[in-house]
Amino acid sequence: MSMPIKVEGLTKHFGSFEAVQDVTFTAAAGSITALLGPSGSGKSTVLRMIAGLEQPTAGRIWMGDDELTAKSVQERAVGFVFQHYALFRHMNVADNVAFGLRVRKEEKASRDARVKELLELVQMTHFAHRYPDQLSGGQRQRIALARALAPRPRVLLLDEPFGALDAKVRQDLRRWLDELHRELGVTSLLVTHDQEEALELANQVVVMHEGRVEQAGAPADVYNDPATAFVAGFVGAANVLHGHVVHGHVHLGTFQVPGADHLEEGAAVAAYVRPHDVRVTEEETGVRGRIERMATLGWLARLSIKLSGGETLVAHVPHDELGGAKEGDEVWVDLRSPKAFGIESDSAGSAASADPVNGQGVTSPVA
Ligand code: ATP
Repeated sequence: MSMPIKVEGLTKHFGSFEAVQDVTFTAAAGSITALLGPSGSGKSTVLRMIAGLEQPTAGRIWMGDDELTAKSVQERAVGFVFQHYALFRHMNVADNVAFGLRVRKEEKASRDARVKELLELVQMTHFAHRYPDQLSGGQRQRIALARALAPRPRVLLLDEPFGALDAKVRQDLRRWLDELHRELGVTSLLVTHDQEEALELANQVVVMHEGRVEQAGAPADVYNDPATAFVAGFVGAANVLHGHVVHGHVHLGTFQVPGADHLEEGAAVAAYVRPHDVRVTEEETGVRGRIERMATLGWLARLSIKLSGGETLVAHVPHDELGGAKEGDEVWVDLRSPKAFGIESDSAGSAASADPVNGQGVTSPVA
C-alpha cells in the first residue's frame, strides 16, 4: 500500500556546514514529488535521511502515521534507486531482482514468481540470465528499479536515476517511469537537477537552494508563479531585466510595468520574463525593438530582440502571431506577466551572475 511521506524541520549539519536547513514538505500517497535544485543544494542529503542512510541533526520523518526518524534502513521498508548504487556485477539480472526477497528469506517459489512479474513490468523478461556488464545503461537502471520494487516498498526513492545516461535514453526512461508509476501508484521521491524532468514527471516540485526549500508546489504553480527570484531563474528559461520601483511601477530600462505592490519605492528589482511571455505586436504598446535574429523551430519563431534601451530579450512567438515581421524589422514589444523581485541594490550584478546568463539576459539556454 502506498503511503504519504512527511518531513518536518529536517536539518543536517556536517561539522559546521549546514547542508540541509529546516526542510518541510509532504508527499501525498501515490504521488511523485521531485526535489529539484542545483548541485550541492542538499537534495540527496534529504533523500538519504528519508532512506535512513544519514541521521538528521534535527527534524522528523513520517510515513503515514509511522514515525521513521529513529528507525533503521531495514525497518523503513523503502526502495531506492541511486545513480551510483550499482547492480551486483557477479549476479545475473534475475538474482539482482531477487536480492531483497532473499534477504527477507522469502521462499523460492514466491521469489521466482515475483522476479518474473517484475521483469515483465520493466520489460526485461528476456534478459533474466544476463549479467549487468551485458546490459546498456538504460537497461541497468530498469533492473535497478525492478530490484527496488521487488520487496513491495511503501515508498520509492530515486536519486538521479537516469543521471548518467544520454539525453535520448533519459527521455525514453522518463516516459517509461511515468507509465510505470501510473500503474503502480507507489509514493515516489525523485531527486533531479533537471527542471524538465521534474516538471514533466512530478505532481509536486520542491525547489531547493543552499539547503533550504525555496518553494514547494504543483509544477504549473512553480513555473507560472515562482515565489522567489531563484525559482524564477532556475525553473524554466527566463529573461532577466534589472530596474527600480518608481511611483509604484517597476521601471526596467525602457519598460514600465505594474506589479510593484509588494516592493518599496526605490527598491532595486530583478524581473523575470519567460520567452513565451514576450509579445511582438503591431499595436503601439510597450517599447520599440529590432529583431536581430530569428530562428524557426517549426511553428515557433525564436527571436533575439534588441530593445531601444539597449537590452536584448529572447522571445518565443508562434509564426502566425508575427504579422510577417522578419529579421532586421522594427517591432513593438510587450511583456506579459513579468515577475518582479526585490534585490539588494549592490547585488544586481551578482543576482544575474548567479544564473548562467548567456550574454543576452537569459538565465538558461532557451529550449
Ligand atoms: P548533487 O546534485 O550534486 O548530488 P545535492 O543537491 O544532492 O547535489 P547533497 O549531495 O545533498 O547535494 O549535498 C549538499 C551539501 O552537503 C554539499 O555541499 C555537500 O558537499 C555536502 N555534503 C554531503 N554529504 C556530506 C558529508 N558526508 N560530509 C560533508 N559534507 C557533505
